[in-house]
Amino acid sequence: MMSWRAFLHQAGQELLNLVFPPRCVICRSAGAWLCDPCLEQFSCLDKGVCQRCGAPLAGTVSLCHSCAQNPPAIDGVRSAVLFEGNARQAVHQLKYAGYAVLAAPLARLMARCWSTKPLPVDVWAAVPLHVARQRERGYNQSYLLGCEFARLVGLPEMSGTLRRVRATRAQVGLSVSERRANVEGAFAYDPPRGKQGVQGQRVLLIDDVCTTVATLEACAIALKRAGAIGVWGFTLARAAPASDL
Ligand SMILES: [Zn+2]
Ligand SMILES: [Zn+2]
Repeated sequence: MMSWRAFLHQAGQELLNLVFPPRCVICRSAGAWLCDPCLEQFSCLDKGVCQRCGAPLAGTVSLCHSCAQNPPAIDGVRSAVLFEGNARQAVHQLKYAGYAVLAAPLARLMARCWSTKPLPVDVWAAVPLHVARQRERGYNQSYLLGCEFARLVGLPEMSGTLRRVRATRAQVGLSVSERRANVEGAFAYDPPRGKQGVQGQRVLLIDDVCTTVATLEACAIALKRAGAIGVWGFTLARAAPASDL
């Protein structure tokens, strides 16, 4: 579901590519928006994470303090890379600088990390933006990442629609419990007309960055209410807990 604005934006960008050939947003070399050598430098975040929420952990424990005390309403969350350095820069360009073209190489990175430890899922869906936010940006970066990632790993898109029913405050600067309250009831699932929708299915939620699992958890609650038997999250990047509090 690409809006006209996003379509024109992309068409415009392709035209610009002819005049100003793409340069890597990280090393500035010519030829691609994110070059292969830069992509290969990202190391997959597959060890030393909480087995439930995917937060980076120090030491040998398998669950973070928060999941051990109060497990989230989502079956589990994993992320391709840490939200730092080049990954942070690339996400910024994708989200705030109009570089929708970065979704394809970043989704390739997601697919590479996913292949080492895929999750047990049947269909995928993107974490939705509020309509006003999507209109302003012209695209939902998580949806763009999801389309390309799912094509690479062969995962069908969820039927029906997950929607953000109310705008939420930015999560930055909020505590874990404030974040939970902020997104509670913010999402709803509409099944396709005359069909079962997610009933009996295991859904993979795709998002760009995971800071706490509050947003993914709120989506999972809406999907489980509609009959999904499992909900997992996979994000491009994961913020370390220290930068989150
Ligand atoms: Zn580069
Ligand atoms: Zn955890």
